[in-house]
Amino acid sequence: MKLSNNELVLEAEKEIKRERESTLKIIKLFQEISARKIYLERGYPSFYEMVTQHFGYCAGSAMRRINAMKLVKEMPQFEEKIESGELSLSVAADVQSFLYQEAKIERPYSLNAKIELVETCLGKSRREVEEEFARRNPEKEKRETQHAISHDRLRVSFSISKELNEKLNHLKDLLGHVDPSMTTEALLDRLCELGLEQYDQRRKAERAAVRKEKRMKEPQQSKAANPGTQSTSFDMDATSTSAAEVARSRYIKVHESLQVENDGQGCTFVSESGRRCRSKRFLQLDHIELFARGGANEAANLRWMCGMHNRARAHDA
Ligand SMILES: [Zn+2]
Repeated sequence: MKLSNNELVLEAEKEIKRERESTLKIIKLFQEISARKIYLERGYPSFYEMVTQHFGYCAGSAMRRINAMKLVKEMPQFEEKIESGELSLSVAADVQSFLYQEAKIERPYSLNAKIELVETCLGKSRREVEEEFARRNPEKEKRETQHAISHDRLRVSFSISKELNEKLNHLKDLLGHVDPSMTTEALLDRLCELGLEQYDQRRKAERAAVRKEKRMKEPQQSKAANPGTQSTSFDMDATSTSAAEVARSRYIKVHESLQVENDGQGCTFVSESGRRCRSKRFLQLDHIELFARGGANEAANLRWMCGMHNRARAHDA
């Protein structure tokens, strides 16, 4: 059976209408899944992870659906515009992310202003919508984007202030002895290392353990040292047992935290279907028997969990 040109176009139109209807249906289902935080029990640290990994959407498609979902959640009057195609998923998502960025830089829109913006964007292309945003906030180029360019490289783009650029260059100069032609990537890597040394609980624990080991060996070494040389084995890291450690406290001893199995694979939460979360965001020690219920600060009662799963558990308590 060969369709006429006219029939082909009509057939496509019919299917596109169906596609839009089902897109809206999916968005509504997403709203409920997200509201019930079903992603947590399924072993995902966020709804986004579930949309990409469980439902199989690529990053861009997932973000468009999630952003459009947020937009129609707040302004359900635009559901039918998505269904009719007057408001494309991309434009809805762009508007939502623009509003989010604006709120982040303390330029929140009232509900009426939001509705007005969406109405202005109806029937417009993404490019026209971008121009509309630029009119409303010329600072908008500060938005950060990233996309994969190979299996292990990302292209990240964002604009920075002149001041920050000066700071980065100043730092590169100061580090000139390490690497005279340091790239911004290399500099960021160094800064991340510094930050992680300071904030990563796991690294802190490992460092403390190394210090402790050193302290144990120290006495023998100092005996062997040449008495003529000035002793530098002065222990800066000696920690006294504080009152907080004696009283029942959430404080987990370094020794205990090191006993907690850590395979470097992130969050240990496992869903009923056996999916392990593995997120490394805000990784922290979680009490298996909740601390609030008398759970001990002992390795046997501790495990590594991401911030989202750790918090969800505290909530359920
Ligand atoms: Zn997790």
